[in-house]
Amino acid sequence: MNRRRRVSYSVMEGKINKQMCLSSYIKVPLPSGELEELIEKAQDWAIMHGLSIRENTNLRKDSMQFAPFALLPSAFPRLQFQDACQIQTVLNGLIHKVAHDYEFLRETLAPTISVDPFTRKLFDIYQTVYKEGFTQKLSLGLFRSDFMLNTVCGNYNYDESQEKELDRKSEEKEEEMKAAVEGETGECYDPELRKTKSFCCWKQVEINTIASGMGWLGTVATKFHKFVLHELGMKNLIEYLPENNAIEGLCCGMLEAWRMYNDPRAVILFVVEEFSTNISDQRGHEFEIKRLNPDVKVVRRTLKQLTIQAKLSSKKELILNDSTVVAVVYYRYGYSPEHYTEQEWKVRLLIERSLAIKSPSIQYHLAGTKKVQQALAKSGVVEKFFQDEKNVERVRNIFTGLYSLDFDENGNRAFDMAVRNPERFVLKPQREGGGNNIYGSDIKKFLITIKNSQERNAWILMDRIYPPSQLNYAITVKDSTSNNILKELTPEVGIFGVIIGDDKNNIFVNKQAGHLFRTKKADSNEGGLMAGAAVCDSPFLI
Ligand code: ADP
Ligand code: MG
Ligand code: MG
Repeated sequence: MNRRRRVSYSVMEGKINKQMCLSSYIKVPLPSGELEELIEKAQDWAIMHGLSIRENTNLRKDSMQFAPFALLPSAFPRLQFQDACQIQTVLNGLIHKVAHDYEFLRETLAPTISVDPFTRKLFDIYQTVYKEGFTQKLSLGLFRSDFMLNTVCGNYNYDESQEKELDRKSEEKEEEMKAAVEGETGECYDPELRKTKSFCCWKQVEINTIASGMGWLGTVATKFHKFVLHELGMKNLIEYLPENNAIEGLCCGMLEAWRMYNDPRAVILFVVEEFSTNISDQRGHEFEIKRLNPDVKVVRRTLKQLTIQAKLSSKKELILNDSTVVAVVYYRYGYSPEHYTEQEWKVRLLIERSLAIKSPSIQYHLAGTKKVQQALAKSGVVEKFFQDEKNVERVRNIFTGLYSLDFDENGNRAFDMAVRNPERFVLKPQREGGGNNIYGSDIKKFLITIKNSQERNAWILMDRIYPPSQLNYAITVKDSTSNNILKELTPEVGIFGVIIGDDKNNIFVNKQAGHLFRTKKADSNEGGLMAGAAVCDSPFLI
């Protein structure tokens, strides 16, 4: 059963739903004739402007379709959004420090690598280059920290009189908004109401350090929703959409690394799959690099192609086809065990040993594992990496409960807790790309099967986050004309971060760079965009 709907949280959720509802600003459902026309126009806009993906049937490379999208932007509390943007450079710095703490990574990952061959392979590569000494001391991080609002916050105190007042204000606001939308007044923003949003806290879901894609789709989604609001005759609402410079920020990061490599002939290598459905996002990065600096060449290779084409020169440069020097390696692939055979593992090691600047370096990759996330949430651990108490507190505040299931006192306690109350948790392996987690009663069934097995070490347990939902139109290729497109959706926000630093903790670049906003059906556990479970969206800050 989906706990979001349980009575114990319904009062709180009801309030949040009401306050977060976009219908205070835009009345849904939209009138039916207007709706169909707008959807059709929006689909064409999406395809023409690169809010698009490649069709994955028949593996044809000449056929594009629009990426799934939310027709309207989704309301989101401004304060939490700004807070998440501001903390990104702190998180970048934390990952950098963790990645360069060999003992921490070794100790943290030891239980996992004893049972998970994928993490072990990554760690073996790390250990090899660590012991040899990093040929390239610089790492390029193109990270994405994902978070969701949580309606089940410990620090929320329910106060009936305050709630009544909020109710009254919301209703007043709704009237005001309607008037504003109809163009009768220009003002549709109330700082008082905004303050009330702050009781809904936000929690980090994870931080991605490899193949953190969607910088292009996120940026285009913002333009898309500006277009839609304009079409609806609501251009006064466009200022509620925060600027999104994700694609430029990420590509500037790659170009800065390229510049630091200091060889004008050298190229940027994208490591990709053979057939990329997410091609607009990948090419979006490539073409943005070209736009920013037309002299820099980007080449795309699969790991398999690299097993034949990649070599090291005597100076340990990464060379393709005996002549092309690679300055920067950007992985959009290689984050999952099925991406590798022994040959691909060899080439990953070869790249790691090279002078090319990797995004991510093997140590950045490992620092983004869920096991590391869980270890960082243990008391006293973040403190190890930051002197500044303020930063420690800010980072701790965004962690939700994370637990190991190892065979020790804490692990056993977490294990029992999850079996007793599985709907309170999410069970996660050391994998990326969505679709790997276990939820609800499946957690109990699964845990019982591994109770006495070392496999427990491969998983971590996390408190389940219960985000508030709101109505919006979810438009997918399968579902764009039916009557069933107005749905309760919940958002997940990704904030991009760019960092370049070396093994002595010198940081040369540390920036926040735009965002990705996805919404998924409120009753679905996961929301992979490419898996069709989520839609591209934009935050409408209230
Ligand atoms: P991946 O690296 O595969 O993307 P995530 O940790 O992001 O793994 O989990 C995938 C999805 O599962 C998330 O996008 C989110 O929708 C859902 N999810 C993950 N952790 C939680 C959580 N603690 N509470 C609720 N949903 C979660
Ligand atoms: Mg991930
Ligand atoms: Mg994720």
